Amino acid sequence: MTDYDTVSADVEHEEEIPTDHPRYQDLLTRHRIERGIEKGITHLQGMHAEGRGSAFDYLLGEETIASADEAERVAAAHLLLAERPVLSINGNVAALVPGEMVDLAETTGADLEVNLFNRTPERIEAIADHLRDHGAEEVKGLEADARIPNLDHQRAKVDADGIHAADVVLVPLEDGDRAEALEAMGKTEIVIDLNPLSRSPRVAEVPVVDNIIRAVPNMTAHARDLADTDEAELRALVEEFDREAALEAAETRIRSGDL
Ligand code: ATP
Repeated sequence: MTDYDTVSADVEHEEEIPTDHPRYQDLLTRHRIERGIEKGITHLQGMHAEGRGSAFDYLLGEETIASADEAERVAAAHLLLAERPVLSINGNVAALVPGEMVDLAETTGADLEVNLFNRTPERIEAIADHLRDHGAEEVKGLEADARIPNLDHQRAKVDADGIHAADVVLVPLEDGDRAEALEAMGKTEIVIDLNPLSRSPRVAEVPVVDNIIRAVPNMTAHARDLADTDEAELRALVEEFDREAALEAAETRIRSGDL
């Protein structure tokens, strides 16, 4: 057994995880989800979702593949073009990339909305506080005064002036039913999900098959780079994007990746 193998799930601080560990990103991600559960912002089921993602990330080589980088640039263009962009935050997203989501919202002029599968007032409040601790000024999702059609009551709750009114929504690690229901409302959906076969990326206009811890900062970097680009050029970028090719490239990498 090497020292690396002794990096267990109970490290106190993420700084204790050696950055040169071959599975560093995976250990970091797992650690953040554990902390999220302890803080009451992530549901226990979030660890299961994390495990699924981790397996796909391993097969992708734990890196942003070229097709994902392109999708992240197109996602940034969509957010810049949008009139009412909203970034949806669930328990895993809040645990993994709170500050990074705040940065992306500020860079693209998007709103942040807490949107939970297992919704309780305590978790909504805890996530909103956690985002504020990471610099968010306004957090939506607490009103929950509108409903997404064709979903059960709890999972349908959104803010009337948030996701309900949005033209472009970023829904990372989203459940398939809700992704389909949002698509049926005519939203332009950007989905971040490591599984290219999952329903959520398959209904998205922009499927981003990448780990959220890499995808979100990269989207922000693209948004900064595109900030002075004129509208026609942004529209061309969005129109040229081939979602089927992006899904296919990720699946090919997963099935045939040289590990
Ligand atoms: P569907 O209902 O769309 O078929 P699912 O049942 O696979 O979805 P869940 O298990 O609820 O959905 O969601 C977890 C999804 O999030 C999985 O597809 C998993 O690959 C993905 N995922 C987990 N962690 C990450 C991460 N860090 N970055 C990106 N995607 C992730």
